[in-house]
Amino acid sequence: MHLTDYPDPSLQLAIDLVNTDHASRAREMMPDLAAARAFLGAHGIDDAFGEADLPRLRQLRAALRGVFEAGETRAAAERVNAILASYRAAPKITFCDGDGDAPARLEPDVCGDAVDYVGAAAGLALARVLCDAGAERLGVCSSETCRDAFVDVSKNCRKRFCGSDCARITSVRNFRKRARTKASA
Ligand SMILES: [Zn+2]
Repeated sequence: MHLTDYPDPSLQLAIDLVNTDHASRAREMMPDLAAARAFLGAHGIDDAFGEADLPRLRQLRAALRGVFEAGETRAAAERVNAILASYRAAPKITFCDGDGDAPARLEPDVCGDAVDYVGAAAGLALARVLCDAGAERLGVCSSETCRDAFVDVSKNCRKRFCGSDCARITSVRNFRKRARTKASA
C-alpha cells in the first residue's frame, strides 16, 4: 500500500491537531473553548465539547506530537499503542461507498465523547502509517521556527520541511548565517 493510495481524513485530523500548537512560534491556535469547537467542527466532529474537555484535547495533541517526533518505528508504535489504549479505540472495518465493498478502512468504534473519538481516530490513522510504511514517513519540520508535523509521501522519503515556505526561509537564514560567519572571520 502507498500512503497516497487513498486520502485519510483521520490522518489529516491528527496532523491538523498537532499543528494547532506552534510551540516554537509561541502561538496557540486553540486558546479557548470556541477555537477548539471550531477546530472540531471543521473536521466534521459535532459531539458535545465542554470547558473540561479542552485540557484533555491538548493532552492528546501532545501525545500525538510525540508520535511524529519519535523518529523510530518501535518508539513511535509504543506511543501509538498507548494512545489506542487510552482512547479505547475498537477498530471496525467500514466501507466508503455504503453498500459496495471497496475501498474499506478501519475506523474507531467509539462510544465516548469528542476527545475519545479524535484520540481513537488519530491513533488508528497513525497506526496504519506505522504498520504500512514505518516511522520514517512521520516527521516534524526542520525549520527551528516551525516544527509542524507532516506525513512524508515523497518517493525518496527525504522530506525535511512542512512546505516550500519553510525550506526557502531556512535556506535564506542559513545563507545569511554563513555570510555573517565569513564577514567576521
Ligand atoms: Zn515548517
